[in-house]
Amino acid sequence: MSVTKAIASPAKFLVQANALKDLSVHGKAYGNKAYLICDSFIVSRVQEKALPGFLNEQRAELAVFGGQCSDSEINKHVDAACDFDYIVGIGGGKTLDTAKATAHYLAKPVLILPTLASTDAPCTAISVIYNDDDTFNRYLFLAKNPDVVLADTQILAEEPPRFFAAGVGDGLATYFEARACFAAQRDNLILGNDSKMLKPTLIGFTIAQTCYETIRKYAAQAAYAVQNKVITAALENTIEATIYMSAVGAESGGCAAAHAIHNGMTLVHDLHGAQHGEKVIFGLFTQLVMEAAPMQEIEEIVDIAIAVGLPLTLEDLGLKTFNEEEWRQVAEVACDKNDTMHNMPFTVTPELVYDAIIATNAMLHAFKKEKQLS
Ligand SMILES: [Zn+2]
Repeated sequence: MSVTKAIASPAKFLVQANALKDLSVHGKAYGNKAYLICDSFIVSRVQEKALPGFLNEQRAELAVFGGQCSDSEINKHVDAACDFDYIVGIGGGKTLDTAKATAHYLAKPVLILPTLASTDAPCTAISVIYNDDDTFNRYLFLAKNPDVVLADTQILAEEPPRFFAAGVGDGLATYFEARACFAAQRDNLILGNDSKMLKPTLIGFTIAQTCYETIRKYAAQAAYAVQNKVITAALENTIEATIYMSAVGAESGGCAAAHAIHNGMTLVHDLHGAQHGEKVIFGLFTQLVMEAAPMQEIEEIVDIAIAVGLPLTLEDLGLKTFNEEEWRQVAEVACDKNDTMHNMPFTVTPELVYDAIIATNAMLHAFKKEKQLS
């Protein structure tokens, strides 16, 4: 039986200082009327920098994101945006997922301007839908990837270092999840015409590999740029990895245990303050323990995580007390048949995941002690 392989990516990806100022120029190809969904913190900057560019017949309406990428929030924007030509999302991952889902339901083009490089949200054709209580609801598969993704290096250089680090955490998992998926010849995250996922292409896997190489080479140096709100070559390279390669590599290469474990971890109340990428990297370490990966490989990732300031242990992520019953449920949810755990090249049970979580946390505590971190 023949298999169908595929790669998907945004139609355009730009890395540009002050891209926000040129928003109307980038949008013009998609019509005159833009509906902008923005995070509240960036509203005044959008008004000052982007809106003056909408001249003559061009028009822009600004809506403030309500805070959760939920069905109720998306429906609100679908109702408000139906007379506009294209949708623009400006903000963090949930804002962008909301903008993408709104454009999807209205079958309109979407332009994405991330203010954080912390998730894969800018470039993928997936919106992660949450319930209003912040628990995971479902993946919404969109008809296409965004039409334009504008990585404004000025804005991204100013993001809090914690979000930069979270993006590195998410980006670190991309290659290792794609590697598991590729070894097992399992599906990626691209939806085929028959509503089944497709297989990874060589180029999708290669992008995932380059994502890891780029982060390994440049992320530690880029952290100094973000800490000082300046743009350097290492930061530009890392942004390309954490925004574009991480997303396209994950979507076209496939996800595996790391993201499935992250999704299980959303159940734990103490971890609600942790970023997506902060939990994903714990999921990655757990995946590597499940695979009995070489210690050298694990230590290389630990060193990158420490260099960019990522939390390592469950306690660093905010866990106050370890409750066995709760973590058995995390392992159970991570093995949900609709999640990506089944992309691992061996059979995974909740018991195996639970045991790996325990061993991983102990291993990370030992690394911290060895590297004399408090
Ligand atoms: Zn992710």
